Amino acid sequence: MSIKDTGSSNIITANNDTTKPNIAFIGLGNMGAPMAENLVKAGYQLSVYDLSEDAAKRLKQAGANVANSPKDAANNAQIIISMLPAGKHVHSIYLGENGANGLLAELPRGTLVIDSSTIAAADARLVAEVASKLGIDFLDAPVSGGTGGAIAGSLTFIVGGDDDAFAKAEPILSVMGKNIFHAGEHGAGQVAKICNNMLLGILMAGTAEAINLGVKNGLDPKVLSDIMLQSSGRNWTLEVYNPYPQVMENVPSSNGYQGGFMSKLMQKDLNLAMQTARDTDVETPMGAKATELYESHIVDNGDKDFSSIMARHDSSVLS
Ligand code: NAD
Repeated sequence: MSIKDTGSSNIITANNDTTKPNIAFIGLGNMGAPMAENLVKAGYQLSVYDLSEDAAKRLKQAGANVANSPKDAANNAQIIISMLPAGKHVHSIYLGENGANGLLAELPRGTLVIDSSTIAAADARLVAEVASKLGIDFLDAPVSGGTGGAIAGSLTFIVGGDDDAFAKAEPILSVMGKNIFHAGEHGAGQVAKICNNMLLGILMAGTAEAINLGVKNGLDPKVLSDIMLQSSGRNWTLEVYNPYPQVMENVPSSNGYQGGFMSKLMQKDLNLAMQTARDTDVETPMGAKATELYESHIVDNGDKDFSSIMARHDSSVLS
């Protein structure tokens, strides 16, 4: 692919493959690290940055250049990708503490910024607006598919932003994901994402509740899960992310609920959904109940995978 010349100086490629743009990747956690690794494997020159040195080490081993700051990572990059916990982190990186001294102000015109963090649509729209004034393309591109999808390069990207920016981003997103949707204008990716995650929170809480009911009535959790998988209760959590320990291999519930998607991040997404529902006067009673359940769950289990909501019914699953 080639980078569109927008009349800026941002057309230099420093990697060996001159057809590939240089990429800066910021935020190398459970999701960002494997996503960045897939870009390195595909031959992209990556400069990476994370607050945690340990997180950056993994990417150094994979062959990326480790930078000392977001600005350092972005030096010579035509594309910036971020995968950060929440809106406040995205604002602090791109807009800075006072809204004007962040990374956006340092980037050449024509740079493409892709933020894959899950944040409020309003936060994404604000960054897009500032970027646009500086001649920078911004896309909100949250993902679905979990850490398994990030490792396998099979994520779903749900993108909000202009057609031209989407066309530029698509070949790069295709390295990290299988399904790339253009949901609409700035913020649309985030709205679609929180609708999905509100449903996921409801499904996970409901699946844990159903398995617990069966187990407390003498059923084996695997037998029950297999039955529901072939019946009308079938859903994504039963298919690939069973919350009960040892029913499935290679899922957080069979690994002490480590890794995966932290309960506090699910809670953040549920709160974003509730905020959107309130702002737009839409009723979400099931979403409100899931939010209430995760609210109490994260008091002791915020860092554990969100399938640990199983422990609400049976604390022995944590041991
Ligand atoms: P994580 O907490 O594992 O990773 C976030 C990383 O960002 C950490 O390594 C942290 O050190 C780094 N970071 C924080 N502030 C920073 C800053 N100012 N500069 C540089 N690095 C900074 O989170 P995650 O699970 O990778 O999730 C990231 C985003 O993706 C979240 O918005 C989450 O909601 C979303 N998401 C996660 C999953 C999942 O299954 N984990 C799935 C879909 C979407």
